[in-house]
This record gives sequence, C-alpha cells and structure tokens, in this order.
Amino acid sequence: MQKKTEQQRTELKDLGEFGLIRRIQQQFAPKHSESVLGIGDDAAVIDTGGENYTLVSTDMLVEGIHFDLSYVPLKHLGYKAVAVNVSDIAAMNGTPKQFTVSLGLSNRFPLEAIDELYAGIKHACSNYNIDLVGGDTTSTRAGLVISITAIGEVKKDQIVYRKGCQENELICVSGDLGGAYMGLQVLEREKQVFMANPDMQPELDGKDYIVRRQLKPEARTDMVYELRELGVVPTSMIDISDGLASELMHLCSQSEVGAILYEEHLPIAKVTYDTSVELNIDPTTSMLNGGEDYELLFTVKQEDYDKIKQNAEIIEIGYVLPKEKGVVLKTKGEQIVPITAQGWKHF
Ligand code: ADP
Ligand code: MG
Repeated sequence: MQKKTEQQRTELKDLGEFGLIRRIQQQFAPKHSESVLGIGDDAAVIDTGGENYTLVSTDMLVEGIHFDLSYVPLKHLGYKAVAVNVSDIAAMNGTPKQFTVSLGLSNRFPLEAIDELYAGIKHACSNYNIDLVGGDTTSTRAGLVISITAIGEVKKDQIVYRKGCQENELICVSGDLGGAYMGLQVLEREKQVFMANPDMQPELDGKDYIVRRQLKPEARTDMVYELRELGVVPTSMIDISDGLASELMHLCSQSEVGAILYEEHLPIAKVTYDTSVELNIDPTTSMLNGGEDYELLFTVKQEDYDKIKQNAEIIEIGYVLPKEKGVVLKTKGEQIVPITAQGWKHF
C-alpha cells in the first residue's frame, strides 16, 4: 500500500473570522463599475443609476451557535433574524426595503413551529416597513438554519462607510451596551438550573430589559432617521453585533486612525450593571465585549456636536486619535489601557 502524502492543513481558528474574510476579499475584487463596494463593510454598495445606492447585506443564524431553542421562542427568533440584517443596512445610513429568507429545516419542526417563526418575521416586516420577497427552503439533518439577505437604499451623498473618520472627531453610540450579553448570561443560568431540576421556575424577575435585549433586539433605523432630521451625516459607522471593542477596531483599522474611549462615558443600563456585578463579570467588559446590542457606533465632526446634543439617546464616548496613539480606554482611575477585540470563537 502506498503511503498517503501528507497535505498541509491550516486550522481556521488560526486565521480567525476576519483573517478568513480578508483572504476571500483579496481574491474577489469587483470587476463591474456598478459594484461600488464589495466585501468589507456592513453591506455591499451597488450603483444602479439614479440618486440612490442599493445596499445588500446577508447574515445567517445557526441553531446551537447563535441560538438555543430551549429558551429562544421561535417568534422572537424570526424577528431577530430580520432585525440583525436591517441593522447592517442602518449601519450604512440606509433604509431597508426588501429581504429574502432561506431556511434549513429538519423534521423536528412541525408546521406550527414554522408558523411561529414567520409570525415573528411578519412582525418585523411591519415594524421595519420592509417586504419579504423570496427565499429558499431545504432540509437539514437536525438543526435550524436561517439566512436572510436584506436590500436597502441610501442617497448617494448620505452613505456612511466603516472607513472615513478623522482625528479629533467624536465617537458616539446610539444607546446602552452590554444588555444583550447579560440577558444571554441569565437565560443560560436559568437553563442550567432547569436542567438540574425541571420543577424549578425560571428566576427572571426584574431582568425583562436584558432578556428582551437578547431575544428581541431592535435595529436602530430610528437613529438613521433622527440623524437625517438633525442634518448630521456621520463620518463613519458600524453596527454593534460583535461588541464595542471589536467594532471600534474595524472603524479604526479601515479609517487608519486610533481612538480613545472614556470608561465613565460608556452607557450601561442599571439592570445590566447590577447583573454583571452579580455574575462577577466586570461591567466594562460586558459593554466592550458583550455584543449583540445592535446599537450604532459612529463618528461625527466636532462642528456637529451641538446638533447631536439635541438627541438624548446619542452618547459621546470618546474621540478619534491619530493612528500612532492606538485604540485605548481611559479608565475611571485615569489609566490608559489598550482596547483589544476579543473577536469571534466559532471555530
Ligand atoms: P457584520 O458583522 O456587519 O455582519 P461580517 O463581519 O459578517 O459583518 O462581514 C464583514 C464583511 O465580509 C461583509 O462585507 C460580508 O459581506 C463579508 N463576508 C463575510 N463572510 C463572507 C464570505 N463567506 N464570503 C464573502 N464575503 C463574506
Ligand atoms: Mg454589521
């Protein structure tokens, strides 16, 4: 018998999600002049003529990785699957218009379960004023997979990329952080308690806000509208799906700048703070690395300060620095510490 020649094998975890995406990106530079921006931002940007750009974004949710059906109601899951895609359109300063839904289903799911999922999708259609226009349905061996592609539009002179912020601009966020992560922690804790003793009732009193942040997040299309009303076009923007630290690193690396955040300005709801302390997780870590809050992180010019001040939901959390200064946090104790993105551990 012949000995098999040893083939090189590179583990995906050594590359990481962003390394893998960069590798794909390098091999697929767009050829058409209509493909204004391909891989690398919250949505692709396509010029079909006229005064608007078309935006396209896709996101997949996989059972056992992104959700656990032992505590995630299918109705909320349907809503969330749409919301996270709408959020990427909002992150380009755009308005969502249409989406498609592709489902991988196993025979574990009866029709009633699919009806629940679509009830949530329908609710999202009306809340975000967006049309379901197609999709695909296939079977899987076991789990549920939902992949959504959202299409939106934005006026050409109002598009906002991850790239574009400059030194001295203000870094802002559209709402409080860390809630979705704390919601996940309490849901996981209750699951463990329930598995140990199925007679126990879940202890979620007072945690409604963070549980909702996890199960039924909202895309900040309202903030896109508010910014337009204020006459402010951010200089860069991204939505917070992976966590503030990771998203800020994206803005900074694509804009080739550094940044400073002030720990005392980072917004956290009281229940998020209290739950963090209760679970022995530093509240600042929850805000920086929690993820899934789907707030918008954006930068504005100093001269727009008076305008953004008019909206109480816009919180200034720091400034853009020159690249050499790095991406840092000024702690409540006045120390400067580097911010590192935890990134993604799926592999
Ligand atoms: P977000 O967190 O905003 O959804 P991602 O980190 O998932 O963004 O994706 C970043 C960019 O990489 C986007 O432009 C996305 O379309 C692209 N991308 C992600 N995965 C792939 C893939 N497998 N092939 C091609 N492009 C991809
Ligand atoms: Mg995004």
